[in-house]
Amino acid sequence: MSPLRPVVAVVGHRLDPEHYRVRDFLTRIAQPFDWYEAGSEDAEQLLGRHGATGEPLPVVIDGDASIVAATAAVLARAWDVPTMPSRAHYDVAIVGAGPAGLAAAVYAASDGLSTLLVESEAPGGQASHTAMIENFFGFPEGIGGAELARLAWRQAVGFGTDLVLLRGVVGHEVVPSGDVRFDLAGDVSVTSTIAIAAPGMEWRRLKVPGLEELLDRGVYYGAGRSEAFHCGGEDVTVIGAGNSAGQAVLELAKAGARVTMLVRGEDLSTSMSGYLVDRIEADRRIDVRLGSQVTEVDAEAERLSRVTVEDSGGRIEQRAAQAMFVCIGGVPRSGWAAGAGVQTDARGYVVTGPDLLAAGRRPADWPLERDPFTLETSVPGFFAAGDVRSGSTKRVAGAVGEGAMAVALAHRRLTELEGLP
Ligand SMILES: Cc1cc2nc3c(=O)[nH]c(=O)nc-3n(C[C@H](O)[C@H](O)[C@H](O)COP(=O)(O)OP(=O)(O)OC[C@H]3O[C@@H](n4cnc5c(N)ncnc54)[C@H](O)[C@@H]3O)c2cc1C
Repeated sequence: MSPLRPVVAVVGHRLDPEHYRVRDFLTRIAQPFDWYEAGSEDAEQLLGRHGATGEPLPVVIDGDASIVAATAAVLARAWDVPTMPSRAHYDVAIVGAGPAGLAAAVYAASDGLSTLLVESEAPGGQASHTAMIENFFGFPEGIGGAELARLAWRQAVGFGTDLVLLRGVVGHEVVPSGDVRFDLAGDVSVTSTIAIAAPGMEWRRLKVPGLEELLDRGVYYGAGRSEAFHCGGEDVTVIGAGNSAGQAVLELAKAGARVTMLVRGEDLSTSMSGYLVDRIEADRRIDVRLGSQVTEVDAEAERLSRVTVEDSGGRIEQRAAQAMFVCIGGVPRSGWAAGAGVQTDARGYVVTGPDLLAAGRRPADWPLERDPFTLETSVPGFFAAGDVRSGSTKRVAGAVGEGAMAVALAHRRLTELEGLP
């Protein structure tokens, strides 16, 4: 799939959740595409020219080929994206191809270690949702998150990483040899000497009646990068006050949407970078409502049409909204940790290194005569990097740095294992 293909054309229904997922996948892998709304004259002509009239939607036109009933998995097959590991055992297996996992893969593979990187969705993780990362070291003009991930993906694979997409890790177990066994979706297992967990965060869910039913049909979690260009001239609501919400409102305003930003607190600058606050305050297309939250959503023709907003004084207002983007932060993806014997803190983040020592004492079941290395979990040789780790900085550069550092520490563990009888 890498390098990029020329622009592809996609025919589908904007408000069909399955069709949205194809659009989202293409956006997150930085594959340029033109969208044709099914039923429009242009869409019918395009399908007719490619002999695809009446074929199951969405249809992706790639050069002379028409890929019908397209899903991420169908596209991956058509474009020869590996979805299976090629070996049974690796020196290093990394879970999650966000910035932390991709960086770990680049360094591990370039150091000559056999390296597996497993990703349940698309490379880039949270970063692939953002149109422009402006504070990543070395890119003074900024770089799209999906574009950055795509470059790292190419680099990791170029050094020999086995990058498996669209196949999540569903179980981990430390086997008697000390290796970690990873169970992947679809009844596939591999083992590795070193494990690096980099599964990052998932969106915190907003509990409002009726919202889940409108998911991907006007209501979206995240910054809505693939949706912004559809929202020109529409009323949209963004919920949240972090950097992801800030980037979303600016992107949507740039696309010509009338944007309302709902913030529960009374001050944007407590949770958002100063450069974003300044731009939002200067943008007259953005209406920021502090001390406000959504209490209800309404639909027309199965699509979001209106939100009910309550402010801190109890005043209630109904506002038109054809789209709503929920960016209220994330929770660590660490449900797997207990099963693998990996300690987490009270908020579910994976605990590593010195944080595992209670009053200077190692964890009760820690088997070695040394302290855990800085990014090592409570299981020797099992490291954690990036947003999932307790105390991490929740920044792309932080995640990349931890990915690189986990590999340096992995070498120390490998050396230690070589010295064992
Ligand atoms: C909208 C948005 C904008 C942002 N903007 C900025 C910015 O401008 N600057 C900045 O520095 N930071 C920004 N951030 C934060 C930054 O993106 C994160 O800190 C960074 O992506 C964390 O990287 P990570 O690799 O630890 O985790 P993630 O990015 O969360 O990646 C984890 C990956 O692991 C995969 N995964 C999870 N579980 C499994 C499993 N069981 N099997 C296989 N794969 C799995 C996920 O699908 C995901 O791809 C932003 C975040 C968001 C959401």
